[in-house]
Amino acid sequence: MKFKDKVAVVTGASRGIGQTIAVAFAHEGAKVVGVARSDLAETASKAKRAGSEFIAVNADLSKGTQREAADLIATILKQTGRIDVLVNNAGIIRRAPAIDFSEADWNEVLRTNLSTPFFLCQALAKWWLMSGREKSSADTRLKIINIASLLSFQGGILVPAYTASKHGIAGLTKALANEWAKERINANAVAPGYIATENTRALREDVKRNQAIVERIPESRWGQPEHIAGGCVFLASHDADYLNGAVINIDGGWLGR
Ligand code: NDP
Repeated sequence: MKFKDKVAVVTGASRGIGQTIAVAFAHEGAKVVGVARSDLAETASKAKRAGSEFIAVNADLSKGTQREAADLIATILKQTGRIDVLVNNAGIIRRAPAIDFSEADWNEVLRTNLSTPFFLCQALAKWWLMSGREKSSADTRLKIINIASLLSFQGGILVPAYTASKHGIAGLTKALANEWAKERINANAVAPGYIATENTRALREDVKRNQAIVERIPESRWGQPEHIAGGCVFLASHDADYLNGAVINIDGGWLGR
């Protein structure tokens, strides 16, 4: 129960990695706020089974505006009174050759994966600096965790917008840490490797691609959403209070190879 009396907000909590992160925080006693466009009932029932309160917030994070991010943080704070952890997990990928890549896809990916996370961090940090911090005990810190990617470090193929957004989120994490560490805000990121979710099912079902991927991973196996959730729980805990601006690869060794 590391997060008893704490509030954790997880974007993209309707399925996949985000759902598992939300449930992991619920298991550790946090009140969890899950954000997504679609129904969050499955995540809610898993979180409640773990013994925690779960609040579902339906929101479209693809707009990438400062106003909508600020409104979302205000809506959540009205219901919870405080936020201790923000996990910017919601993300999308669009595939096309760079030469043909559409402006619409470029903008949607950058807004969802980079602009919205930045403006959510900004709105939350404003609340923390204006009132959240002074209402919190001296050892309480605001924890921001951004979900990056192997493509925060590598270029990928056919995914220029996704790669730009994930390089961006890694840089943003460091920039925020530099400004906010002294304010008792820890900004860090987790970079997942190949994780078995619905999103990657097609890759796993393609026998050749799957074999090539698994052979390239030193662990010789796909990662599970629980591996990423564990990293997020660690970053949000007191054990990581002196960790700032880190991008932690949880990738079975992929990037070390
Ligand atoms: P999924 O596609 O399974 O889930 C994405 C989540 O983001 C869903 O809950 C979805 O909810 C939400 N989301 C997407 N667009 C929006 C939007 N406009 N507004 C609100 N919510 C939105 O992805 P994964 O779980 O696989 O990935 C989660 C994160 O991890 C992403 O940032 C991804 O880039 C990153 N990642 C994943 C890897 C993997 O191998 N799976 C590898 C590296 C990084 P809904 O559709 O209901 O709105």
